[in-house]
Amino acid sequence: MVIIMNPEATRENISEVIKTIENVGLEAKIMEGAQQKIVGVIGDKTKLGSVAIGALAGVDNIVSISKSYKLASREFHPQSTVVDVAGVKIGDGNPVVMAGPCAVESRELLLEAAEIVKEGGAQFLRGGAYKPRTSPYSFQGLEVEGLKYLAEAREKTGLKVVTEVTTVEGIKPVAEYADLIQIGARNMQNFGLLKEIGKCGKPVLLKRGLSATIEEWLNAAEYIMNEGNPDVILCERGIRTYETYTRNTLDLSAVAAVKHLSHLPIIVDPSHGTGKWRMIKPMAFAAIAAGADGLITEVHQNPAKALSDGSQSLTKERYFDMMNGIKKLSRFMREENLNPIIEG
Ligand code: PEP
Ligand code: MN
Repeated sequence: MVIIMNPEATRENISEVIKTIENVGLEAKIMEGAQQKIVGVIGDKTKLGSVAIGALAGVDNIVSISKSYKLASREFHPQSTVVDVAGVKIGDGNPVVMAGPCAVESRELLLEAAEIVKEGGAQFLRGGAYKPRTSPYSFQGLEVEGLKYLAEAREKTGLKVVTEVTTVEGIKPVAEYADLIQIGARNMQNFGLLKEIGKCGKPVLLKRGLSATIEEWLNAAEYIMNEGNPDVILCERGIRTYETYTRNTLDLSAVAAVKHLSHLPIIVDPSHGTGKWRMIKPMAFAAIAAGADGLITEVHQNPAKALSDGSQSLTKERYFDMMNGIKKLSRFMREENLNPIIEG
């Protein structure tokens, strides 16, 4: 439930509302927009019993939230959230790009890839140190050694680091080295992991599960936020459908849906979304045109030799070409005031 205060409500009016909510053992969250002040109520609202919040001074309206997730919903938090990851803002209207190899393969390859990623203009270096592979016989990642190479690459280039965590035990080392912690598609409904991630104090990139509905995905975000971590960025990375030409079906309509249902930023992964390097550039353009807050894409110096996901990795030249187009497209959208998001 959210309590909409009228624009003239005073600080005292708001404090009185919060006090009334807390007195019955519920949690109150205040959200101040440019025009509206809103108090969100978390917990079992039957605890309010006969307490008439609507009668308190300054209260305009009470709206109950129809969704199973609350903190992640736009009903609860009408203003779009901008997540600040070590100084890089995600969701402020300027698309952010995360690029790099699927996996950290060696120190030399990673440091070289980081230079390429930096030169192309991305803000984040990606690379898995813990790889959730379909087969237990496939390369599983360099683990802590890989995290150290990522941190070294950050030192050398100034890029921020995004990398995946796959287990609760992995949270501590990953949080120590990464700026943004990735929860992969396979762990989107690993609720124990989500709860622990919610306590780790680092921003989270939450990928959509292989077969997750948008509602399940937003509930996964809710698990993280409910533990006190509001800094969640969603990532559409394709879902399983009957189509076999592509590795997954990149659901770009999820960008529009999420922008309507949630205030959280959303980025798109055209690499895992298609499985094919040829499709990365067109899907990246389409994602930005649809209103995505950024992209995450795989880049490798020599995709044919990559230890994982070479077929969906851009070479240096193709990455530069995509970035060139993305910069032009986002400049055009900004200058022409082309905002695809329909408020409300
Ligand atoms: C990845 O980004 O390296 C990855 C494994 O992605 P996903 O979880 O979307 O499959
Ligand atoms: Mn990959």
